[in-house]
Amino acid sequence: MQGLGPLARLFNNMSYEKQRHIMVESQLRSRGIKDERVLDAMEKVPRHLFVETDLADRAYDDCALPIGEGQTISQPYMVALMTELLELKGDEKVLEIGTGSGYQSAVLSLLAAEVYTVERIHSLAIRAKKLLADLEYKNVHALVSDGTLGLQEHSPYDGIIVTAGAPEIPYQYTEQLKINGRLVIPVGSRYSQVLYRIDKTAQGIKKSISTGCVFVPLIGKAGWDEKEIY
Ligand code: SAM
Repeated sequence: MQGLGPLARLFNNMSYEKQRHIMVESQLRSRGIKDERVLDAMEKVPRHLFVETDLADRAYDDCALPIGEGQTISQPYMVALMTELLELKGDEKVLEIGTGSGYQSAVLSLLAAEVYTVERIHSLAIRAKKLLADLEYKNVHALVSDGTLGLQEHSPYDGIIVTAGAPEIPYQYTEQLKINGRLVIPVGSRYSQVLYRIDKTAQGIKKSISTGCVFVPLIGKAGWDEKEIY
């Protein structure tokens, strides 16, 4: 954007705004995303700022995109679906595992009271933290650590969202959820997973399947072993 005059800048912004609106209508609403708060948040967050500059024009495409370090920003539909499954009303404390670009954190920040997000790759975490601060998503707290262990110090959470594929569900997540809290997590093999929603109730754990999906691996003590992956 540097070097553009105010009118050209305005045009650029309007054009992304329009692309975002089309994304919401044609990729999300038409595929069954119903939560108006989620649709509204996805209409507001400037996804093109969360990808590399040379991919900005593809930011609203119906796919995941690379963000460096072999990682990805998830497909808009997957972000919307996982967020909708959390059923956020606005007063919740949410934990996200896998900050990546920070895009999912920004969406959550408009839907919950506090968002804690954890990333294992230092360079991604630093970049996302700076961008989230620059864009004034003030209720997002970004940390670097092994998210397979959850984030004990700020638990319990109303919602936990895991944006990398786990071989199985780390017990720490259900332990760190409040009663009536929800966990959304892809679980399966290295190359294909099933998206689960886990409800923690006073009576126990209820597990439901949402859809098939493909995520980069959740690597850490209670996830995939890095040596087996690369
Ligand atoms: N939510 C991200 C976004 O909006 O851009 C997309 C995340 S990307 C699909 C998955 C991320 O999970 C990667 O950045 C990866 O480094 C991270 N990850 C993998 N294992 C992790 C772990 N144990 N703890 C924290 N982050 C992890």
